[in-house]
Amino acid sequence: MLTLPKRKLRCSFCKKSETQVARLIGGAAGGYICEDCVSVCNKILDAAPSPFKSWDDLTEEQLLSSIKASEASITALHSLIHTQIEALRKREVSWTAIGKALGVSRQAAWERFS
Ligand SMILES: [Zn+2]
Repeated sequence: MLTLPKRKLRCSFCKKSETQVARLIGGAAGGYICEDCVSVCNKILDAAPSPFKSWDDLTEEQLLSSIKASEASITALHSLIHTQIEALRKREVSWTAIGKALGVSRQAAWERFS
């Protein structure tokens, strides 16, 4: 008899599985975030004083310390959208529908994510 492997929960941001992270927090929309990614988010928030006025109000040191965290979040979000689009494509959702949801043409969505 064929048994399917148990599906592991993954961080929606960095895609690490539940066995690779200390803790995984679930969100209301079905996504998850791991402790490491929460830490990245906290660094981003700490780098910019609140209330945030402008990047011009930050010191060079604050700006320099914030760019690595920003880049990490871009990488994580890039990974997230690819995971979401993979899930849609597995359900055979069309590139036209994906493009429409993103506000771009079918061709633009396909070129960017296929
Ligand atoms: Zn993560």
